[in-house]
Amino acid sequence: MNQPQSRASERTENQTHFGYQQVDESAKEKLVGDVFSSVASKYDLMNDIMSFGLHRLWKRFAVCLSGLKPGGHVLEVASGSGDLARHFAKQVGPSGRIVLTDINADMLALGKSKMIDAGLVGNIEYAIADAENLEFEQDQFDCVAISFGLRNVTRKEKALASMYRVLKPGGRMMVLEFSKPALPRLSKIYDCYSFNAIPKIGKWVTDDERSYRYLVESIRQHPDQETLRKMMLEAGFDEVKYHNLSAGIVALHLGFKF
Ligand code: SAM
Repeated sequence: MNQPQSRASERTENQTHFGYQQVDESAKEKLVGDVFSSVASKYDLMNDIMSFGLHRLWKRFAVCLSGLKPGGHVLEVASGSGDLARHFAKQVGPSGRIVLTDINADMLALGKSKMIDAGLVGNIEYAIADAENLEFEQDQFDCVAISFGLRNVTRKEKALASMYRVLKPGGRMMVLEFSKPALPRLSKIYDCYSFNAIPKIGKWVTDDERSYRYLVESIRQHPDQETLRKMMLEAGFDEVKYHNLSAGIVALHLGFKF
């Protein structure tokens, strides 16, 4: 049986992790891009299979806490297939503004086609954008959300600062991401499922075991709940708190810009 390998050793300067591999910071963006281009066509199916449909509930929970009202302006960063954006569009209505951004053209195209299939057209914008360098004017959005995206970003501090900049004063930041399970026994079962079953399911559904091994490893490299909370405070967000979902397998972090 495969066991979780030890985490990659501490990062050295200009090095980062890609799953458990150490790579140059400059190489990570392409490696992550290749992962999502490879899995884009089966991305939603895999999410449903791997999470037993739970990702839909985690995302619904996040949407319920967006604080968005009709006419609101919202940015989804690393939007992928746009699961949050479709709900946000209903919250802000036709007088609102919804912007979907992703660094990967294949994933952004998937999101766009799903928005159109859902009849959501008109007040929706799409842009290829790196979370680390969002080229919008500052103080633009009532809510900025990133769902299962931050762990793929090379310089997370830079991305948090970039998202803070475009948020309006009074606005709300939401980070939905895999996190650290709160119960040790659950951790063992979760590790066993993740390291053994998920890459095999990935191979079976997408013929790409490697990308799903990256997924599992990248989750273990992502900052835990408290570390991410501190990173958000350091980026300038106020009143940062988090909700553990499914016993901490996932966490929703909320922060405000005052
Ligand atoms: N938000 C969607 C969801 O919750 O299902 C998609 C999440 S998917 C696991 C991660 C997404 O992050 C991919 O679409 C990928 O292209 C995007 N991504 C990775 N690095 C990024 C970056 N630096 N800036 C913006 N998007 C990025």
